[in-house]
Amino acid sequence: MSIKVGIDLGSTAIKVVFLENREIVWKKVVPTIPGQAQVANDLISEGLSEIGYSPDQLDDPVVTGYGKSLVHDAGKVIDEVSANALGVFLLSDHKARTVINIGGQDVKVIRLSEAGKLIDFKMNDKCAAGTGRFFEVAGRILDTPVDDFGDLGQSSADTVNISSTCVVFAESEIVSLMAKGIERQPIIRGLHESLARRIAGLAGNHDIEDEVYLDGGSANNRGLVAAIEDELCRDVHVLPYPQFSVAYGAARSLDSMM
Ligand code: ADP
Repeated sequence: MSIKVGIDLGSTAIKVVFLENREIVWKKVVPTIPGQAQVANDLISEGLSEIGYSPDQLDDPVVTGYGKSLVHDAGKVIDEVSANALGVFLLSDHKARTVINIGGQDVKVIRLSEAGKLIDFKMNDKCAAGTGRFFEVAGRILDTPVDDFGDLGQSSADTVNISSTCVVFAESEIVSLMAKGIERQPIIRGLHESLARRIAGLAGNHDIEDEVYLDGGSANNRGLVAAIEDELCRDVHVLPYPQFSVAYGAARSLDSMM
């Protein structure tokens, strides 16, 4: 039995998946730090020892993501948009037509044909607004881990208007709301709504086709997903492990001969 390995060296997080018979049998995410290739190799060793396989049972890894060129012994390198498109198309049982990936430092909107071919994509990588980085900055000011944002934002009936799309101005807007005594829950809800408006603007609501899937680490944030659904006026699906769909697509590219 051979195990396929997908490595996604993202700007914020390194993700590794092992696949056996097209199913994820092991996965791990760690923050991106210098020496990414070594981190990825260490993760592979960790995965092998956890699932009890030997290195000769692994196929050569397929590498994607921002740091993909740093791994010199990759079996194959694939660009992150193709890996993302393939991963979500396959994991959605071929239903996905639009993929919105909210990564650590960029947002991508990818459109797919019925056959899963890439039609086109748009990317916002010029500023942090609308990305996971925006939440991390807000989380530091609010002294709240980003993992708690979804529940906290959704627990609030009240909201506030955060008008700044630039992370630097949004930071001072949050500080002044806190100085007025406003609780963090409505501030977080306001942040979700602000980001949802920005992401919907990038996506261009008229160009979006169902079914829409949200992935990347920020898709774990249910409050953000709900805000994006409200802004787009349509259902947005989230796969069980939204941060791993790009690494999954990389590994599955061996099957698809991309
Ligand atoms: P990249 O591929 O660009 O490195 P990822 O898709 O791995 O980015 O997403 C990283 C982002 O996901 C981080 O900014 C982090 O804040 C966010 N994230 C991860 N898990 C959660 C969670 N449970 N809730 C909210 N945000 C999350």
